[in-house]
Amino acid sequence: MFDIKIRLISMLGLLTFIVLGGLILDYRKMLRRPKRIGIGMAVLGIAIGVFLTLCAVLPDNNVFGKVFVESETSRKVVALTFDDGPYSPYTEQLLDILKEYNVPATFFLVGENVQKNPELVRRIAYEGHQLGNHTYHHVDLLKSDKKTIAEEVDHTSKVIAAITGTAPHVVRPPHGFRDPVVMEIMAERSLKVVEWSVMSRDWTNPGVEVIVDRTVKKVKNGSIILLHDGDGTASEAPRIQSVEAARRIIQTLMAQGYQFVTVDEILNKTEDIK
Ligand SMILES: [Zn+2]
Repeated sequence: MFDIKIRLISMLGLLTFIVLGGLILDYRKMLRRPKRIGIGMAVLGIAIGVFLTLCAVLPDNNVFGKVFVESETSRKVVALTFDDGPYSPYTEQLLDILKEYNVPATFFLVGENVQKNPELVRRIAYEGHQLGNHTYHHVDLLKSDKKTIAEEVDHTSKVIAAITGTAPHVVRPPHGFRDPVVMEIMAERSLKVVEWSVMSRDWTNPGVEVIVDRTVKKVKNGSIILLHDGDGTASEAPRIQSVEAARRIIQTLMAQGYQFVTVDEILNKTEDIK
């Protein structure tokens, strides 16, 4: 949609200028007749600012570039995705559950955690799961400059490739936040940006029951489910609730006839019903 790559922060800066300009014009009783154009400018500036910010932080829109949120398919398939790992012992516990139910998942890994836990990364790959890039320091890319964004992404791909032999081709920006420049940097690297369609705010540890309920009731054919086996780079918050919820989500959805696939596989299903 945007051919000129402008940072969100620059757009908001310009809009702030327009809003203030509009308010000053109105205060000075200028441009008031026949309509209060100054106030109109201010209101429009605020509305555009809110819209652009929502486009940057909400997962389900392509305003700044194509993101993958879910698949349109008539088949009962879903993809489990886990962010912020690897984080011991929770990633191991989760891998045990996935193995028990023979369920493939996709792990969006934080580079710093990858470097601390190479064996765990090797195990994730060896057990047939897909690996994705989730930046090196789990930074807010909207607040990072272009060079930092590139380094965050490249460094993570490099450490994952050094351990597994393959660099990821999917990326999830931390918190899902992106703007035109973030999207351009990902496109230059042929990285598909993957968001999600089902989230339960599991990172707040609201209780296993709550995570399971919030997830299961939103799932439909082609959903991409977001859960967390890690906790940013801090790796402090426990993730036992997410791990236990993953088991229950798998049991419940399997009983409903769903099949679990990786992000790559679910994106390939998009053409099914077209
Ligand atoms: Zn994250």
